[in-house]
Amino acid sequence: MNRIYLDYAATAPLRAEVADAMDACRDALWANPNSLHSEGRAAFAALEDARARTARALGAHGVSEIVFTSGGTESDNAALHGIVDAVMAHRRGSSAHVVVSAIEHHAVIEAASALASAGHEVTLVNPRQDGFIHPGDLACALRDDTVLVSVMMANNEVGTIQPVAELARLAHDCGALFHTDGVQMLGKAPVDLESSGVDAASFSAHKVGGPRGVGVLYLRRGTPFAAYQRGGGQESGKRSGTQDVLGAIGTACAFELAVTELDAEAARLCALRDRLAQRLADASERVRVVAPADGAGGHLPNIVTVCVENAESELLLMRMDAAGVAVSGGSACSSKSLAPSHVLTAMGVHRDLALGELRFSMGRETTEEDIERAAEAFSAALE
Ligand code: PLP
Repeated sequence: MNRIYLDYAATAPLRAEVADAMDACRDALWANPNSLHSEGRAAFAALEDARARTARALGAHGVSEIVFTSGGTESDNAALHGIVDAVMAHRRGSSAHVVVSAIEHHAVIEAASALASAGHEVTLVNPRQDGFIHPGDLACALRDDTVLVSVMMANNEVGTIQPVAELARLAHDCGALFHTDGVQMLGKAPVDLESSGVDAASFSAHKVGGPRGVGVLYLRRGTPFAAYQRGGGQESGKRSGTQDVLGAIGTACAFELAVTELDAEAARLCALRDRLAQRLADASERVRVVAPADGAGGHLPNIVTVCVENAESELLLMRMDAAGVAVSGGSACSSKSLAPSHVLTAMGVHRDLALGELRFSMGRETTEEDIERAAEAFSAALE
């Protein structure tokens, strides 16, 4: 029987349209886009075309706001370090106050922790039990000397969509800049960077069927930023290193497709998500759906996370795998550890329950039949 892949939040397969777009350019656009000869100029033109398409797909104001990176992790690290360094150089201070939500991806949490090790002060804002960062809680954490706030658009583990525009306004009212991790949001819910008011945002190509190892750092015009990666001054001095032209083309193509197909795909996935959540909850009284989509606030259409009482996430995951269903025990990068996830812990989920976490994340190729088979495999895995 075919395997069922329900780990799209970890990565999505490369889309055929993206592979075709990259293949079509492979032989013509291999030159260094920073070289001045004809081959180099052709590669540069293609890179800039990809940048313009990416900017449009994200609702950015212009191409100068788009920096190509090696992925979401680099974009997050560069945003936190690059903005704090630039602001502090301007203020000639040594210690900044930074606020991040406690449910950020490790790329943000670890970047913030490196800032703390370097002598800056970091405040973590916990979500409420429903998985949302409450604007009032952010307001309490903000100070006159807060330099930067980072709260993700949507959580990769439980799917909650944060009220980013409102949180960015609060940060701005205090004179702080606002970064958001939009890696899971793109293609699942609308992203319009210009109207969102954020100063910086991170995206990753492989989560939407683009190539692995390419990402985008959005820096609104005027956002102070000190290059995090230094060298030859590519990407307008914001990110040195010879650019991956084919990767940028693949990213532009994947982002455009994700945005064009968003409405239809989100509606389709919402129906699958609600059905899956119901089927998983019905499997046993030991099952609790975490941050259910019918709770307060918005929710990604493709993620259902459950916790099972008296169960071990890893064992459930392996039983599901043996039954032909690929799911994750929380976020992919922390799935090898037996500690409960920092997201569930911050939401106040009891450790014993959090240890039985399973995340089902759907994507373009997920069908109703997949959902039914996954629910059956889940019931069997609980026995
Ligand atoms: N941010 C979020 C919310 C993610 O889910 C991920 C990947 O899981 C990342 C950042 C890291 O992205 P990348 O794999 O492109 O480094």
